[in-house]
Amino acid sequence: MINDVKKIVILAEQKKGKIHKVTYELLGKAAELIASFPEGQFEKDVIVLGSDQLNLDEILHHGADKIYHIAANSFDMPDEWLYKENICELLKQIQPEMLLVGATTFGRSLAPRIAAALETGLTADCTELMIDTDGKLIQIRPAFSDNILAHIKTETLPQMATIRYKEFAPAEWTDEVNGEIIKVDAYVKGNELIEILEELEESEFDISDAHIVISAGKGIKSKEDMKMIYELAECLKADVGASRAIVDEGYIDKSHQVGYSGNRVKPSLYIACGVSGAPQHLAGMKESDVIVAINSDASAPIFEVSDYGIVGDVYKVVPMLIERLRSKEI
Ligand SMILES: Cc1cc2nc3c(=O)[nH]c(=O)nc-3n(C[C@H](O)[C@H](O)[C@H](O)COP(=O)(O)OP(=O)(O)OC[C@H]3O[C@@H](n4cnc5c(N)ncnc54)[C@H](O)[C@@H]3O)c2cc1C
Repeated sequence: MINDVKKIVILAEQKKGKIHKVTYELLGKAAELIASFPEGQFEKDVIVLGSDQLNLDEILHHGADKIYHIAANSFDMPDEWLYKENICELLKQIQPEMLLVGATTFGRSLAPRIAAALETGLTADCTELMIDTDGKLIQIRPAFSDNILAHIKTETLPQMATIRYKEFAPAEWTDEVNGEIIKVDAYVKGNELIEILEELEESEFDISDAHIVISAGKGIKSKEDMKMIYELAECLKADVGASRAIVDEGYIDKSHQVGYSGNRVKPSLYIACGVSGAPQHLAGMKESDVIVAINSDASAPIFEVSDYGIVGDVYKVVPMLIERLRSKEI
């Protein structure tokens, strides 16, 4: 039976007890989506898996109506199978209309497993959401290299979407809390198929949060030549980004990739060094406040989105910038 109050459920991702910020962006968007409907028609709930020590107050202060907390220590490790089993069991009971998941690395891996298990549709990497007059979720995402915006309405329930990080403004903190926390018994507490041999130290690095990004593209000819990009980044206290072309070459780890199949960034300054500006790269950085491009080809598409363009050889321009910055001439 479908509930009278329609539930928009957001899946919160947590790592070592820290809630991923995309959760608050999705809560903010859910609040905006339901604002035009009569009060009580929709509620915005959150599912979170993690230990009993998890601090859920922050989620309540960002406007969640209900938090379903499935508790077990094993959930502190991201295990898609374990998460999927527990989430599907809960979803069968609460029967939400919509399930929103952050398009993080984990979310992108988990969401299709849930959709397949529930035999429902899923739209990946949405950049906008709407609710139509029938109360159905319209999932909007770029298609054909950003040339069209596809509007997708899945017929099955829950309607599922993954949404990119940094796409929406986060819900604001409110002092007044009206939501409640509902403890849910874990359906499955462990995954016997997995044995942890060694835990590697994970980097906290997330280029999506960078304030300044110096990005390298195929204009950089070798891994050794990346040194000048790191030096420029150091001068500006910036993080290093990359086009997919040089990630594929193995010059830098994929966590630095900017673009459609990488990370979306919105820094105050983005300096693209030897990046052509393919639509898939632009999709991840064109919202940056100030864009500077250095490219030897004056017709490179990156100049179309740049505030400042330097037509020149990166091997000359970047060392000159480093020298000037080090001598404090800039
Ligand atoms: C489904 C899909 C997803 C994709 N996702 C992404 C993504 O997330 N991110 C991404 O970046 N790409 C992505 N791509 C790849 C994308 O289409 C491009 O191939 C890629 O962005 C090109 O990288 P680039 O600009 O470094 O290389 P190129 O396109 O080869 O450009 C190199 C540029 O360097 C300039 N140059 C060369 N030498 C110098 C020099 N000495 N000084 C100055 N300039 C120089 C050239 O003029 C050129 O403009 C995706 C593609 C597909 C199909």
